[in-house]
Amino acid sequence: MSLPVYRNYINGRWLHGSTVGLDENPSELDAPVGEYVRGSAADANEAIEAAAAAQPVWADCGVQRRADLLDAVGSELLARKQELGLLLAREEGKTLPEAVGEVARAGQIFKFFAGEALRVPGESLASVRPGIEVEIRREPVGVVGLITPWNFPMAIPAWKIAPALAYGNTVVFKPAELVPGCAWALADILHRAGVPAGVFNMVMGSGRQVGQAIVGHALVDAVSFTGSTAVGRQIRETAGGRGARVQLEMGGKNPLIVLNDADLDVAVNAAVNGAFFSTGQRCTASSRLIVEEGIRDRFVQAVRLRLAALKVGNAVGQGVEMGPVVDERQLQTDLDYIRAGVDEGAELLFGGDLLPLTPRGHYLQPTLFAGAPSMRIAREEIFGPVAVVMPAASFEHALQLANDTEFGLCAGICTQSLKYASQFKRQSAAGMVMVNLPTAGVDYHVPFGGRKASSAGPREQGRYAAEFYTSVKTAYTAA
Ligand code: NAP
Ligand code: MG
Repeated sequence: MSLPVYRNYINGRWLHGSTVGLDENPSELDAPVGEYVRGSAADANEAIEAAAAAQPVWADCGVQRRADLLDAVGSELLARKQELGLLLAREEGKTLPEAVGEVARAGQIFKFFAGEALRVPGESLASVRPGIEVEIRREPVGVVGLITPWNFPMAIPAWKIAPALAYGNTVVFKPAELVPGCAWALADILHRAGVPAGVFNMVMGSGRQVGQAIVGHALVDAVSFTGSTAVGRQIRETAGGRGARVQLEMGGKNPLIVLNDADLDVAVNAAVNGAFFSTGQRCTASSRLIVEEGIRDRFVQAVRLRLAALKVGNAVGQGVEMGPVVDERQLQTDLDYIRAGVDEGAELLFGGDLLPLTPRGHYLQPTLFAGAPSMRIAREEIFGPVAVVMPAASFEHALQLANDTEFGLCAGICTQSLKYASQFKRQSAAGMVMVNLPTAGVDYHVPFGGRKASSAGPREQGRYAAEFYTSVKTAYTAA
């Protein structure tokens, strides 16, 4: 029996692309998710032209229409969270509870921005010149290109598409090639919720073809990208170079500090969740565990016990805590880093091997090293279930190690000291800080983003999303 082929959504129609690709299930290599078309640069151009043509009408259709559309999309995501969570878990490999939670999150994001569509901010001030009024208006930016990674295939598209549409922009969305299923489901929901033709377009396909066409097109006024730092920098050059607005959310190498006075259970939970849940494939994963010497042995022992009991397996399996690695390429990257760690003299404290489970999938053990701050495993983003424990002599030493990285997405500390917690919140060089919590796991109604090589441009999410998705105009009126 042949599978149905899912198509691109361009100008309100479902269109074939140039080729077809198989959406793999990393938990069960013999049970793929489906077949999805792959578009070309020509398909991207068609979508961009449709978005440009639809934009003035969408900008003027009224905020109630936009709010109603986003609210309907949010309601459907919430109502179908189990079914869509199963799809997400099968195509990406995170566990079913994590996947269902992500779909619900996407629904909440659409509902949040349904409200924001009614509250487009503006200001009114008296002019310094008598008899004149000054208004500060926020208007749509125009056509926005949205390029997303594979690791949050529902939530990241949601937190870009929802504010883009709420503020009157039109959208050309290119999901990561590894996760077309969630993207197609979102497009289907938007279509059936009544999004006008051209207002939202989804073009599946490769970054080199579809992605580059979006980034380089003169009609795309803004590009919001989440993905690797290398690709982000390329996009900044191309899109920024032609004067487009650019928002980049990129890599991380997030530290979690554990001080001697930490509650051991809190610290172990934060480390295991932060480093290994979602198979470590989160930009906010804690991959550097910086542990003060007085608690180090107890902490390492407790984490090893927890990892020995951690259930790794099929993402949709009962009680599974960690699913497979997303694909063969990422698995090879993880194994290369594990080898590099051993070669550089790091001590393997747990894991390091493939797990030969049946049915066949990309299964890797959670892997814990003791290492030095100069090692590649302690400096470069691996994006897998691999963490490094590093000793610190004091709070000051731990803070210095935590900030000694090119990245600056998220940073955490486990301590019962108000003094050190406060000092950490002030002196961390990351865009998000966590006290007695895992570095991963954030709210949707507050800004999300990092500093240094982790982010560029305005923040995503919450009311701060308006900074990127609106353009400010200052209007003067003589009364
Ligand atoms: P990636 O390889 O950079 O890909 C991200 C997206 O960009 C994909 O849709 C990709 O298409 C596309 N792309 C690739 N090359 C392109 C080009 N030259 N021009 C335009 N688009 C291009 O990242 P990934 O492997 O999917 O995701 C992992 C990375 O994302 C990690 O570094 C992680 O830290 C980061 N991330 C960051 C955040 C954050 O908020 N800071 C959140 C999640 C993930 P293809 O599908 O064809 O590759
Ligand atoms: Mg897949």
